[in-house]
Amino acid sequence: MSDDPIKVSEETCVGCQLCVKACPFDAIQMDDRLAVIDLTVCTLCGACVPACKFDAISMKQKEKTADLSAYEDVWVIAEQDDGVIQSITYELLGEGRQLADDLGMRLCAVLLGSGVSTQANDLIARGAEIVYLVDQPELAYFKDEPYAAVLTELVKRHKPNVVLCGATTVGRSVISRVAVATGAGLTADCTGLAIDPETKDLLQTRPAFGGNIMATILSPNTRPQMSTVRHKVFKEAEPDPGRSGEVLLQEVDPALLVSRTKRLKYVPEEDSIINIAEADFVVGGGRGLQKPEHFAILHELAEVLGGGVAASRAAVDADWIAYSHQVGQTGKTVCPKIYIACGISGQIQHLAGMSASDVIIAINKDPDAPIFDVATIGIVGDLFEIVPRLTAELRKVLGK
Ligand SMILES: Cc1cc2nc3c(=O)[nH]c(=O)nc-3n(C[C@H](O)[C@H](O)[C@H](O)COP(=O)(O)OP(=O)(O)OC[C@H]3O[C@@H](n4cnc5c(N)ncnc54)[C@H](O)[C@@H]3O)c2cc1C
Repeated sequence: MSDDPIKVSEETCVGCQLCVKACPFDAIQMDDRLAVIDLTVCTLCGACVPACKFDAISMKQKEKTADLSAYEDVWVIAEQDDGVIQSITYELLGEGRQLADDLGMRLCAVLLGSGVSTQANDLIARGAEIVYLVDQPELAYFKDEPYAAVLTELVKRHKPNVVLCGATTVGRSVISRVAVATGAGLTADCTGLAIDPETKDLLQTRPAFGGNIMATILSPNTRPQMSTVRHKVFKEAEPDPGRSGEVLLQEVDPALLVSRTKRLKYVPEEDSIINIAEADFVVGGGRGLQKPEHFAILHELAEVLGGGVAASRAAVDADWIAYSHQVGQTGKTVCPKIYIACGISGQIQHLAGMSASDVIIAINKDPDAPIFDVATIGIVGDLFEIVPRLTAELRKVLGK
């Protein structure tokens, strides 16, 4: 019992139930007059600790990093696919520049790959003052174990203050391992980052409780402060070939490059020729489409626009379209020039993934649908009439 991360003292608990009311996860039940925390449900959010007026609940504090001042610089973990730097990296460099300036520290990038030294210069052009480069054949493409082991080694070697990583499949997979291995705090899916002017801590803002509130999370006791950041939330750093910086080639123990997995072959997902996260025009469909075949009218519209097709979770859950098309809190974030929402009600979890679009056109037969609250142009009507007419008009106008 003594190893439990959170405990209720049998001596001091009076059974007042204030903690039960304070727990947002319903993890506390009363057993006679004693509060009992279900550790399989508890997220260790700590809301119950100050709620208890009798100091009966105690939570283990994370061990403090010995010397916080030894940790310097803002790091961006660069993501490359087949030697091509992914645009999320440029977005992180754009935001990282601001954080580094506010901290009075350097902006550095970390690049793992094989034969990628030219790409390191690209990172300098986008604002990195230092690029830590690990260039090894074993790192040609992403594998969890060697990537995590090498990044962990570099973090221990150079002690960065802040580490930013894309909230992509690769980023989420690797950085959680690094955070555990280094005992650092990690905040996933940040949509806002800033530096506290007094404490110099990183303020990491992200949606919480189903997107209903924005929570700002701190890691005041440990370093580095690690965050994953969603694609398309921040603007890319512009390239400037005139910028200078240093590429520092890093040697690593060959034992770190060993992996228990190997890639047999690469099969691109057939269903996602256009990456909606990158597209300038996105046509989204929801439950209003009624059946999978009806997505064809959205594909036609998207094709005329040269864009991609997105979907609400309701459509994905109904198996009408693949998950790679899902936009929202548990899907992709898109930021196109125009997002056309067809038969999507506009629940907060969907808005979390598309509300930053430049122009939102909503087509919905319900005039009270919440999507109209964020729409630049709202069309109240039947999507099965409106979408084909829109496609036909655009075909004429665009000469397609
Ligand atoms: C933890 C969590 C995470 C979630 N993550 C996501 C996420 O990432 N993305 C996401 O999308 N959702 C997510 N959801 C689900 C979300 O809450 C909604 O349930 C979902 O977005 C609803 O999808 P919808 O708008 O397609 O369906 P509905 O809410 O059922 O809306 C359908 C709309 O279609 C309109 N309509 C019907 N027929 C027509 C027609 N002929 N012409 C025009 N309009 C028509 C209706 O008026 C209605 O507004 C999440 C939920 C939870 C709890």
